[in-house]
Amino acid sequence: MASDSKYITLIKKTSQSLFPIICNNCGSKTLIPNNLGVCTVCELIIIKEESDSQGKLFETVIPLLTKNSVIEASKALDGLSKSATTPSISYILGVFYGILSDYAYFNLNYNGKGFMEENSSNKYLSLDLTSKSKEFFFRALKLISKLEQKGNDILYLEFMTNIKLGRIFYALNSLKALNANKTEAYCNYANMVYAVESKRKDSESFVKPMFSTSLNSFFYLSKVFTQKKKLEDAITILKFINENVNMPISYAYLIKLESMVAAAGFN
Ligand SMILES: [Zn+2]
Repeated sequence: MASDSKYITLIKKTSQSLFPIICNNCGSKTLIPNNLGVCTVCELIIIKEESDSQGKLFETVIPLLTKNSVIEASKALDGLSKSATTPSISYILGVFYGILSDYAYFNLNYNGKGFMEENSSNKYLSLDLTSKSKEFFFRALKLISKLEQKGNDILYLEFMTNIKLGRIFYALNSLKALNANKTEAYCNYANMVYAVESKRKDSESFVKPMFSTSLNSFFYLSKVFTQKKKLEDAITILKFINENVNMPISYAYLIKLESMVAAAGFN
């Protein structure tokens, strides 16, 4: 267990060196190193000086993004769907519906006293939220395709949207364009995500340099550990992140790993 505590010490160290901020993309509370960083909720780049009007759009939804208010939150998101006129807003809606879908799914599997009818309604709710999430990710891509010019922020958004949709090949196209522009703020994080999601053998070497600037790097480290079949280490990291950092993606992944372990009859 010595290696576990080593990573948790690192996560604590990083958390203490970062500053709290409200993400100007999605309105969530998060931590970044200085004037520039990656949001732990939406994974978009936060530039401190930029306008926070888009973040304010989600003000009413943020407090509802919890395991216990999935229905209320999805209604609030439905109310915002007409506002999805930009790629970035559409992407955030995709992310938020995805988070709610994970929560609905959680209620399905881990609600010990749940009745069959309740389980099946949670299942349909989760599927419905997943399809809404995909719908908004595709809308983001459609809006991006209509743009005449793509700056780094748009290339990065296109990259992340394809990653969220599991379209690794399309993500690579945006990544190549991003790397050609050599803007570190976007490239370093995107290259890490791509290395892990495409299961590169040396992906850990992309993750480690990000430890000091992004808490999300520890989420990607847990994915690397999973790929290396070090499930216990992956779960230890995810449990700690899940309890201490505002990072809903870590929650869904933790459940997946715990179910895998349970299904395989470990422990
Ligand atoms: Zn955000």
